[in-house]
Amino acid sequence: MTTEPALIVENLSLALGRANLVDGVGFSVAPGEVLALVGESGCGKSVTAQAIMRLLAPVIRQTGGRVLLAGQDITALPERAMRALRGQAMSMIFQEPQAALDPLATVGTHIAEALRRPLRDVRDQVLQMLAEVGISDPARRIDQYPFELSGGMCQRVMIACALISRPAVLLADEPTTALDVTIQAQILDLLRRLAAERRTAVVLITHDMGVVADIADRVAVMYAGRIAETGPTAQIFARPRHPYTSLLLASIPRLTDAPKSALAVIEGRVPTPAEFGPGCRFASRCPLADDTCRAATPPLRDMGDGRLSACFHAEQLP
Ligand code: SF4
Repeated sequence: MTTEPALIVENLSLALGRANLVDGVGFSVAPGEVLALVGESGCGKSVTAQAIMRLLAPVIRQTGGRVLLAGQDITALPERAMRALRGQAMSMIFQEPQAALDPLATVGTHIAEALRRPLRDVRDQVLQMLAEVGISDPARRIDQYPFELSGGMCQRVMIACALISRPAVLLADEPTTALDVTIQAQILDLLRRLAAERRTAVVLITHDMGVVADIADRVAVMYAGRIAETGPTAQIFARPRHPYTSLLLASIPRLTDAPKSALAVIEGRVPTPAEFGPGCRFASRCPLADDTCRAATPPLRDMGDGRLSACFHAEQLP
């Protein structure tokens, strides 16, 4: 029996004026699965998440594609219907938890608001949720304000807000970037566990392949507004089928690296939409680029092992 995906993004395209920010992006996420949307800053990950939530800045237009939530096409839903879905069937958490929380509202009020109920009516449920996200002494913390909590605790509160309504989909945009490494690992473990227990599909947006390795079942690597490669995490880490993925993986520090050895860096930068040409958008940084790459857009091709790669020369990679 196959499980229907909780989220399907089909051929999504976004534009700012005449510039294509995102071009034909597609992926799906099953209930309880974690998909990492990974790439450098400016590759289109965050704007893709905003489009899924229909929270795009007014200057950005969706020029194509659709989004299905538990089988329902929500692309053209009226804003009123979207407001009913946000925080209920689909939630989002952000990089800076302290900035996302209202400094004048208590922890309990934030979480009760996610249920759209007064705290006095749902206090027990909120206490239970605080315990589930690993906040010690919930009976005391529930009445505290964000400034009384550490960054890691604030992110746990955000996760409690996002998950208490048992959404089908959670979008997590760099949720651990602002936290130190130990707390980062704890928060990733928590997300992973709660997503599995609650059958929530998670789209984790990150630039960090170390985070991907820790938490994701599958990966979609984005570059300059397009999908470069998608597939199961284990396969992508074992043998990437796109030069950009290879270089991202080579830039992760490893315990086996010699002391003081230099980390691999990807020379150059992501082109801006105004610089997009007819060929592969990675060509200016790619060690395998040739005239074919500069002349035409590489289509996403099925590699026959559960993944897709948008590279003309995927088979040449070691
Ligand atoms: S299509 Fe060419 S330029 Fe693009 S990633 Fe593949 S080898 Fe590199």
